[in-house]
Amino acid sequence: MEITVLGSSSKGNSILISSRSDRILVDAGLSYSYIRGALSRLGVEAEELSGLLLTHEHGDHTAGVLRFVKNHPGVPVYSTRPTLWSLRLERGANPVTPGRVFTVGEFTVRPFPVPHDALQPVGYRIESGGRVAAVALDTGSVNRALIEALRGSHSLVVEANHNRRMLREGPYPFPLKRRIADPLGHLSNDQCGRLLKRVVDPGTRTVVLAHLSEKNNTPSLALSEVVEHLVGDGGGTAKPPPLGGGITIEVAKPREIVGPFKV
Ligand SMILES: [Zn+2]
Ligand SMILES: [Zn+2]
Repeated sequence: MEITVLGSSSKGNSILISSRSDRILVDAGLSYSYIRGALSRLGVEAEELSGLLLTHEHGDHTAGVLRFVKNHPGVPVYSTRPTLWSLRLERGANPVTPGRVFTVGEFTVRPFPVPHDALQPVGYRIESGGRVAAVALDTGSVNRALIEALRGSHSLVVEANHNRRMLREGPYPFPLKRRIADPLGHLSNDQCGRLLKRVVDPGTRTVVLAHLSEKNNTPSLALSEVVEHLVGDGGGTAKPPPLGGGITIEVAKPREIVGPFKV
């Protein structure tokens, strides 16, 4: 099983998960032509995807969906009912329920709820042949359910949206700053680091920091703040640091392929 980020930032997101026989896309929030081009550079034709899974209806996760569906009507679309409804995709698509496992080809998929200001947003825990990848993008805060959903994953794609100080002192109008920092908004680097400290274990092979804000974050800040939690005592707990050898931490790029990573 492999995971490849086709592109990810607060402006657009799409992630490919592949096994020997199946390929699924999580979100199509970049333009259809970008996604199709990125897939074809990876040797994947869009029409051979086993499924398109959507986390929620926001444009940075769905901008390419309608053209994708129009051009590849044979690729099944999966998301929660309210998300499908808001995209007018309820006909012919596959509604999923948070917590209820479904299969796409040889993948076993568990959607899990995430705290975010959308109709019914989810992340996905995806399993094949005993390997587990999890994707949690827009997430305003960390709760027990989220930690449980991510625990035991061999590869993780998690939001590290902003540096708190850059958000506070940056150019966004106050209501938008407040919305981003809200428990239903987006995870800061610091929150992401605390979350990872609780879910990363010796079995974790890859962590990709995703959905970075281009205005309120930098790749090096995201990486250093997260690593600080994982190797040091940034979490303020007596727990030993979970970072052993063998773990790769990468930062996703807005419009560039990052990966593939073996799950
Ligand atoms: Zn969102
Ligand atoms: Zn988003």
